[in-house]
Amino acid sequence: MTPSTEIPEAGQPVVLSRSEHSISRKRIDENTLKVLYRLSRQGHKAYLVGGGVRDLLLGRTPKDFDVGTDATPNQVKKLFRNCFLVGRRFRLGHVRFGANEVIEVATFRRQARPDDLPEDPADHFFFTENIFGTPQEDAFRRDFTINALFYDIKTFSIIDYVGGLADLEARRLRVIGDPLVRFTEDPVRMLRALEFAARLGFSLDDAVRQGIYVGAPLIAEAAPARIREEVMELFRHRVGGEVLRNAQALGLLPHLLAGFEGEEETFALLDRIDARTASGVPIEEHFALAAIYLSRFLRACPPDSEVTVTDAVRIAGLVLSPHCGYFHVAHGIRHQARELMVGMFRLSRGRGKRGERRFLQHPMTPQSLEFFTLWHAESPEGSQLAAEWREALAQDEQFQEKRKGDASDRRKSTRPRRRRSRRSKGGGGGTPSA
Ligand code: ATP
Ligand code: MG
Repeated sequence: MTPSTEIPEAGQPVVLSRSEHSISRKRIDENTLKVLYRLSRQGHKAYLVGGGVRDLLLGRTPKDFDVGTDATPNQVKKLFRNCFLVGRRFRLGHVRFGANEVIEVATFRRQARPDDLPEDPADHFFFTENIFGTPQEDAFRRDFTINALFYDIKTFSIIDYVGGLADLEARRLRVIGDPLVRFTEDPVRMLRALEFAARLGFSLDDAVRQGIYVGAPLIAEAAPARIREEVMELFRHRVGGEVLRNAQALGLLPHLLAGFEGEEETFALLDRIDARTASGVPIEEHFALAAIYLSRFLRACPPDSEVTVTDAVRIAGLVLSPHCGYFHVAHGIRHQARELMVGMFRLSRGRGKRGERRFLQHPMTPQSLEFFTLWHAESPEGSQLAAEWREALAQDEQFQEKRKGDASDRRKSTRPRRRRSRRSKGGGGGTPSA
């Protein structure tokens, strides 16, 4: 990116020709290129849009590539044999390649104006998502300036209607339009703002901060399923700790995860979990959940108290219940999160308690110990206890291996016992002999 990346005049995009930007077609996925070329050859506008353009300009590898076009969904479907139309709110083309690759092709659309809306407010949401528009309108309906850049396959140029290039250069996250208005339309954008800033190492524009600060309570109105998905997305992108810490600073956290008080010790645990994910261990929801509510649980179950394991199971259930109920978390995930917490409690009490052998053999115990180790990473006593448990677990494993080995040796060495045949038992299938 070089020359004029200042915010463009309304209606006039900044256009960077091929020689003025760094995006090379070699870095665009082959099948996405096929889709772009075919649309373009048929006379349609065909742009690479969204996060793909942003990431390529930043020299990062995009997670996926999305295509924007002025072809209608039905026209897209006709152009590609392997295309399926999906989406209730907005019809999108999914062009499939092989078993795993799907390229999403979306017709340019715009935000609804008040006079577009149907009389019945129940239909508003459907309508607001479903009106075709120009490329410029499509850029303006997007969330952040850096997410609204287009790469035109016909001219190999970048088209910027919203000042995204300037923001990429300044490493700044800015909302398109008035942040509070855009957050009111869709409160999940507040969380996305924090997520992108953390993922990319960008600063939040002051207006975005202000907008989140004022608009925070709106997040409680967003669909729980979307929030749940976005929260997991934070952890997948290894920014759970950082984003939730920022959410706390901006007053968003209490509206986002009721019952999570945002203690520094928990943020530190989440940071370590993010580092664990970065090292290649996939994050699972029960692990994140148990971490978020761990310190609340431990306060109710201190290791040196009278609390029994049965109490701990009940308390873990109570601590997780509001979150799991609100977000409709499946029973299996809820159960695993509870097991992790209870495992943590048992480990904290130290060795030599009743039922230790069975506990060591429980399938969740190694993961509880990993959890325990992360929680105590900064505490010498905790780390010492974790080491003792690791040793116990290793010994128990050896013991189990040996027992298995002995049992199979025994099976091999003893001759198979002769079964008494039914006949020899008393002749004639159990009928008493005369
Ligand atoms: P990544 O896929 O790397 O997480 P992305 O920018 O591609 O990032 P997506 O969630 O895949 O993000 O969305 C694709 C694009 O759709 C975004 O770049 C943005 O332009 C637009 N978009 C997504 N969600 C919203 C939203 N809630 N409001 C407005 N525009 C959105
Ligand atoms: Mg994407």
